[in-house]
Amino acid sequence: MPAGTEQIHIAGDSATSVHPSLLGHEGSTWKFAVDISGYESTISQIQAAGYQFEELRGLMSKVSGGDLAIGGQAVALSQWHANHTYCPRCGAMMKPIEAGAKRACTKNERHREYPRTDAVAIMLVESEDGQSALLGRAKSIRSKGILTCLSGFIEQGESIEEAVRREIMEEAGLPVTSVVILGSQPWPIGRGGSCELMIGCIAKAAASELHPDMDEMDDVRWIHKDVVKQAVHVSSQPDHPYLGGQGELPAEIDFWIPPPFAIAHHLIKTWAGQTSSPWFAKL
Ligand SMILES: [Zn+2]
Repeated sequence: MPAGTEQIHIAGDSATSVHPSLLGHEGSTWKFAVDISGYESTISQIQAAGYQFEELRGLMSKVSGGDLAIGGQAVALSQWHANHTYCPRCGAMMKPIEAGAKRACTKNERHREYPRTDAVAIMLVESEDGQSALLGRAKSIRSKGILTCLSGFIEQGESIEEAVRREIMEEAGLPVTSVVILGSQPWPIGRGGSCELMIGCIAKAAASELHPDMDEMDDVRWIHKDVVKQAVHVSSQPDHPYLGGQGELPAEIDFWIPPPFAIAHHLIKTWAGQTSSPWFAKL
């Protein structure tokens, strides 16, 4: 039975209780997230039973989409609870309520906090002639062989389309006109341990000359569609180095795009697979 603040006991640890958070159910099986970070004895027991721990990113190419969604929700919700110990309005301790769906202040029950999701715009920019895509790599991206879609947080009071235009201007110094939203992807392991919602867009460039912000970016350039197609092909393989593989690039290209678990891969693949620009036809 799902219960709000039921405690479970972990044998063998001096700290004896954690708060499970309800994720949902499949049939008659209820699923909960339990953060056992720091419970060394329990972790050892689980490992001794033949299980192993792995970061969520490492599982992205190994488990089903359904299992990955459950794991992503568990990690995001657990991190949110861990990062919201104190009430932001009065400073008192907070406690989980409603099976971990919210947190309430222990001094004033009207002080409540809800799990947070940060909106991020991620966009492929098509050149004026429709033959090239703008790809780049921010300095914050650790994988140096990657070129991908530009992206950035949507600010308060800003539309998705406005965020796309602002980010492209800030990162590449390029004006864009039309913006089309193609799809979205939750990203539970976002920057700073936050849960993000990646909103995938395609935008049309209004110029060709780039003025990138090299304090923020390592690389920003136009890539012709023929080259992008090759990058999509090699980056769809299971030996992608981003997945821990030993894949090698053909001589004609000098970059990988993200592997298929990322929405950037699908934005780039979708654009490269089209012979015209259907996304701008109705604008
Ligand atoms: Zn409070």
